[in-house]
Amino acid sequence: MVGRGFGSNEILTADDLRIHSDFVLPAKHPLIEELGQQKHRLAKVTGLTFSTARTPVDVYLFRDRDSFNDFTAKSNAAFASRRAFFVKSDSMLNVYAVWGDRAAEDLRHEVTHGYLHSVAPSLPLWIDEGLAEYFEVGPGTDGLNWAHVQHLAVALEQETWTPSLGRMESLFDPTKLTQTDYAEAWLWTHFLLSEESTAALVRSQMQRYQNKTGVSWTAKVHHLVHDPNQRLLEHLKMLKR
Ligand SMILES: [Zn+2]
Repeated sequence: MVGRGFGSNEILTADDLRIHSDFVLPAKHPLIEELGQQKHRLAKVTGLTFSTARTPVDVYLFRDRDSFNDFTAKSNAAFASRRAFFVKSDSMLNVYAVWGDRAAEDLRHEVTHGYLHSVAPSLPLWIDEGLAEYFEVGPGTDGLNWAHVQHLAVALEQETWTPSLGRMESLFDPTKLTQTDYAEAWLWTHFLLSEESTAALVRSQMQRYQNKTGVSWTAKVHHLVHDPNQRLLEHLKMLKR
């Protein structure tokens, strides 16, 4: 299925990425190089090791929306309204994206899923999305996803949202995630990575997922942080300033 109808004969590689495009990409495109580098940034933040032989991530780039839609209608109709998506099976990790003005953030996001699933396929949805949202803003930003800060600040003010790590842990269906879910998943991730004790917990938890022995986060975070839901809100207020 993969690649059929794609009409691609362009394949570039950047680290463990294989880039296929239905248009000619410059051999050393800065964004493609950055996406290759992103694996090392992800390894540093999460403590995951990518050295073991594993499935590479294939990235399919479409020159425009029409080309993407044509392909998606035939192969992945459920994603027709998206600009980019990630799909996996036992033998492949594929990212599909429109090469448009949002390509950088879309690709950073979906490629994060690709890298994560290459070594820790049973990661809980919230941290999988939280890390994708953390990395989509690109290098030099410390993962600060300003759109989510603003979204949550408004939701808090309008009393349409209260944080709950327990609720985050209960999420399992990516098709049911709301914008607030993405934002909260990002905020927990950003919060936990902002202090060394909790960042160390993230790394040890990720190690467990890599070794397929994943355990619940809520009890572990409560053990390290007094009233984490409240502390999360303080983190949000600090970011807003
Ligand atoms: Zn995602």
